[in-house]
Amino acid sequence: MPDTCLFCKIIKGEIPSDTLYEDDQLLAFRDIAPAAPIHFLVIPKKHISGPSAVAEEDEQLIGRMMRVGSKVAKKEGIEQFRVVFNNGEEAGQTVFHIHMHILGGRNLSWPPG
Ligand code: 5GP
Ligand code: ZN
Repeated sequence: MPDTCLFCKIIKGEIPSDTLYEDDQLLAFRDIAPAAPIHFLVIPKKHISGPSAVAEEDEQLIGRMMRVGSKVAKKEGIEQFRVVFNNGEEAGQTVFHIHMHILGGRNLSWPPG
C-alpha cells in the first residue's frame, strides 16, 4: 500500500471522507468535487493503480465493485447512473488507485467531452 497514494490514505483514515459503504474489501465515498447531484467513488482496499493493472486474481474484486456501487446508488435514490473508470492521464485519471465513479441525479450527455 504506497504511502503516497491519496486513496490508500483515505482507506487508512488518514484523510477524512464521506463514507457511504465499507467492508473488508471495498470502500465507497462521496467525490470531493461532485460532477453530478450524486457522485461517489467505489475503490478496492487493495492498491491497484488502474484498470490496466487489474490482474486475473482481482477479477472477482472488480466485479464486486459493480454490485456494491449499484446497491449504494439505490440507497442514494438513483437507479439510473453512469459508471466511469478513467485509465491514464489522457483519459482523465488523476488518482492512480483504481476507482469507479458513479454519477447520477441529472441527465448525462453522451459522448463525454
Ligand atoms: P479521476 O480523475 O482520477 O478519475 O478521479 C479522481 C476523483 O477523485 C476526482 O473526481 C476527484 O474529485 C476525487 N478526489 C480527489 N481528491 C479527493 C479527496 O481527497 N477526497 C475525495 N472524496 N475525493 C477526491
Ligand atoms: Zn492506493
